[in-house]
Amino acid sequence: MKKNFPISLQNRLALTYALFISLALVALTIIINIFTGIVFTSLVKTNIAGKSAEIVRAIGEQYNPMSRNFDTVTLEAMGMYFVHEGYIVTVEDEGGGLVWDARSCDMRECTMVINDIADRMEGRFGFRGGALRRDQYPVRFSGRTVGTVSIETYGPFFYSETESAFLTSINRLLVIATIILTCASFMISIILSRAIARPVNKSAEAARQIAEAHSGGSSGKPIIRIDDRYQTRELGELARSINSLAAELEEAERKQKQLTSDIAHELRTPLTCLRGGIEAMIDGVYKPDREHLESCLEETIRLAGLVQDLNTLTALEWENITINKTEFDLGSLLRITAEQFKAAAIEKGIEIKLDLMESPVNADYDRLKQVFINLLSNAVKYTDRGSVTVSVKGAADPGAQWEVSIADTGIGIPETDLPHVFERFYRSDKSRNRSTGGAGIGLTIAAAIVHAHGGNIRAESAETGSVFKVALNVT
Ligand code: ADP
Repeated sequence: MKKNFPISLQNRLALTYALFISLALVALTIIINIFTGIVFTSLVKTNIAGKSAEIVRAIGEQYNPMSRNFDTVTLEAMGMYFVHEGYIVTVEDEGGGLVWDARSCDMRECTMVINDIADRMEGRFGFRGGALRRDQYPVRFSGRTVGTVSIETYGPFFYSETESAFLTSINRLLVIATIILTCASFMISIILSRAIARPVNKSAEAARQIAEAHSGGSSGKPIIRIDDRYQTRELGELARSINSLAAELEEAERKQKQLTSDIAHELRTPLTCLRGGIEAMIDGVYKPDREHLESCLEETIRLAGLVQDLNTLTALEWENITINKTEFDLGSLLRITAEQFKAAAIEKGIEIKLDLMESPVNADYDRLKQVFINLLSNAVKYTDRGSVTVSVKGAADPGAQWEVSIADTGIGIPETDLPHVFERFYRSDKSRNRSTGGAGIGLTIAAAIVHAHGGNIRAESAETGSVFKVALNVT
């Protein structure tokens, strides 16, 4: 059942990206703002100090040593100019007598300028961050003090109209840039998250199809494959894993179908013979004598053998094979197993030759015995004259320790059949094998056991007959 999760991966990614980028942008804007403020204020403070020094110097230049007084006409012109710039100047002579005073000159203008500055600063900082302050500077001429200049101004610092406008426009620019960048980041987030979410969604869809197929819902449809050419390594790997899972599942499904049809086919022939024989006896075509009953019995024995083999094969192929390891001598196992076939070999007039050596192994005795029984029974079954040679020797292959070889001088296996003899129900000559009774499972079982031991098995065609080689590394 499809469960509805509250938020899709794509939306979650987009939101996370957008939130992250927006927060980063806002933080950056605040930092830039504070930083600009600090730098700008220190610049303004230096300017104010410089301006005060400049005012004192300019006033000093108006001192006339002859009249021992200041040029008041120029002082007034200069003083009113300074007022417009935010500096209220008072000049006193060396005796403390008032020479010129901006307030007495134009009180209204002075108050208006100072109020303007105070309003501007309050508008910028939201509170009156400063107050009117007064600083006194001596006016020196030829090394002696000839008067005093008092400068009243809004302190500790103030922004002029242009400075204030400059700061306002910088802040406005920052806000606009933040808004534009936030919008852009939202769009980039959507594009990025879509690019990431798309392959994940596809993988999820494929995984869902696999799950459906597994629960029997695929109705034989091939499972979709995901494009695994992603630039991201992890997504590529995810796609490849899902694809290989899908391939395995399809293969398993195919095998299952094949197995069912193979079993049906294998069972049909003996059952048809059995049914034909019994019906013939019921209809009176055959007498229910020993010969006919024995023929029916043979078919039931063949059926029982087939069922037994299928059981073993299913256990090996579908269940986890448990390998019960014990230490024993491979050579002795081969000798004992060969002994079992002696009677059958003598009956067929063939010889079983042994070329064995002491070969200690740590393996599953019963299962390996099953392997050699299957190989030896084939060798004897498909050999009418000559011999069967069973040998064990140190393996040439560095990955294995022992190599067991079972060679016969029988009918051999055609070159084209060699790669297939270990496949389930494979028989190199279908018609011939009906008479010998094989169903084509013995070698499949042998291969499964050898592989479970980490070894390998192969068939070779010899000049006369065939050779089966089992390489084992079981110490
Ligand atoms: P079966 O029960 O039919 O023998 P196997 O799986 O043991 O099934 O063998 C598969 C097929 O391989 C056989 O049907 C036969 O055609 C071929 N084969 C196996 N062993 C030999 C052998 N020693 N000589 C010739 N053909 C063999």
